[in-house]
Amino acid sequence: MTPPRIGLTPTDATEAVLREIRPLPTETVSITEAIGLVLARAISSPIDLPHWDNSAMDGYAVRASDVGTDGVILHIVDHIPAGAFGRRAIGSGECARIFTGAPIPDGADCVIRQEDTTAIETAKVRVDDVRDVGRNVRRRGEDILRGSVVLERGTVVGPAQIGVLASVATPSVEVHRRPTIAILSSGDELADLNERDAILSGRKIASSNNYTMAAMARMAGAEVLDLGIVKDDLDETRKRLADAHGSALLVTSGGMSVGEHDYLRRILEGSGAACRFWRLRMRPGAPVGFGMIGGTPWIGLPGNPVSTMVTFELFVRPAIRKLMGHTQLFRRTTPVRVGEPIVTQAQLQHFLRVTLSVDDGELTARLTGAQGSGILTSMARAHALLIVPEDRQRIEQGEILSALLLDETIHVTSVPY
Ligand code: AMP
Ligand code: MG
Repeated sequence: MTPPRIGLTPTDATEAVLREIRPLPTETVSITEAIGLVLARAISSPIDLPHWDNSAMDGYAVRASDVGTDGVILHIVDHIPAGAFGRRAIGSGECARIFTGAPIPDGADCVIRQEDTTAIETAKVRVDDVRDVGRNVRRRGEDILRGSVVLERGTVVGPAQIGVLASVATPSVEVHRRPTIAILSSGDELADLNERDAILSGRKIASSNNYTMAAMARMAGAEVLDLGIVKDDLDETRKRLADAHGSALLVTSGGMSVGEHDYLRRILEGSGAACRFWRLRMRPGAPVGFGMIGGTPWIGLPGNPVSTMVTFELFVRPAIRKLMGHTQLFRRTTPVRVGEPIVTQAQLQHFLRVTLSVDDGELTARLTGAQGSGILTSMARAHALLIVPEDRQRIEQGEILSALLLDETIHVTSVPY
C-alpha cells in the first residue's frame, strides 16, 4: 500500500485527475437530444440564409429610382404575402404590396413601410415619405452563406444553436456522448429516504450525498446511475463497486479517511498503479482518492456533506466536462470584497461558503454562517466559494479575494435593464 501523499494542492489534484480523463466517443443524435452536449464536428450550411432577398417590413416593394421625392404615386401590380413569390417583375412606376419575410420581387430594390403611404384607389398608392428608399431589404445570405461554417467543433449546443441548426435544415449532429456517472455512498450510519422512520427516530442519518452528487452531476450535463448506499464491509463494498462497470466515471462519498472502517480507501489503494490517494492541502475536503476500477475512473470524495460538494465541484465537475468534450472545464472566479474579518484555523487553502451581494457596484462576500464540513445549510445559502490562500490565515474586512461562482445565482430585486 502506498502511503498517503501529503501536501498536494487542489490545483495539482485537479490536473492529475484530468490527465487520466478523455472525452467520450461521439455519436449522432437529433438536435433536440443534443441540448447541453458538445459538437464533435463543425457544421456547414447547405443553404444561404435568408434564402432570398426579403422584406423587413409590411409595405410596398418599389424601385428606388421611382421615388426621388415625397408624393409619388405608384401602380400596385402584385400582392406578395410571406410564403408566396412575386408573379412578375416590377417595372417603372410600379410597386408590389409586400409583407414581412416575403421575397423581394425582381425589379424592386427597397420597401417603403406601410405607415409612410396612403392608398389612393384599389390599385394605387402614394408614397408620403421617402426615408425608406434603399432600405428594408434583408439580403440573401446576410445571416449565413451557403458552405460556411455556422457552428464550430467544440460548440456547446444550447437553445440558440439548436435554432441555427434547424434553420439550416440540419436534423441531427455528431456530439460527444453524454456520460453516465455512477454514484455510491458508504457508511453504516446511512439510510435512503425509503427508511424514513430510521432517520426520523435518529437511528440513521439520511444519505444526502447521493442527492447532492446526483444533482451536481445532472447540472453538469451527465446522466446518473445511483448505486445507493453500501455498508462498511469490505466484500460488500467490492461487489457494489463492480456495479459501476460501463459508467464513464464512478464517484463515491465517504470511507476515504484513515479509520479501520474506511474500506473505500483501502480498495482504492489496493487497486493498481494508476491509483492515488491524497491528503489535499485544502479545507474542507482533505481526503480525496483517484484511481481506476475495472477500467472505470473512480474519484473517491470525503463523506462530510460540505466536503463532498466542494470536492465534487473542484475535481468531479471538470472531469465530467472533459468527458463531455468541453474545452473550458472550470467555472470562473471573480474578485470580491470581503465583507467581514475572517480567520482560518489551519495553513490550508480554504474554500469558504459565501453569499455575494452588490454593494455600491461591487461584489461583497459574506460567510453563509458556521463553516463546519458537516453544515450543509452553509452550502445551501452559498453563491460562491471564497478562496483563501493557504498563507493567509487572517483576512481583514475590505480586502479583495477571489471567489469561485457556483452558478449564476446572483439575483437582484428589481429589473436591472
Ligand atoms: P466518512 O468520510 O465516511 O468518515 O464520513 C464522515 C461523516 O460524513 C459521517 O460521519 C457522516 O456524518 C457524514 N456522511 C458520510 N456519508 C454521508 C452521506 N452519504 N450523506 C450524508 N452524510 C454523510
Ligand atoms: Mg464512513
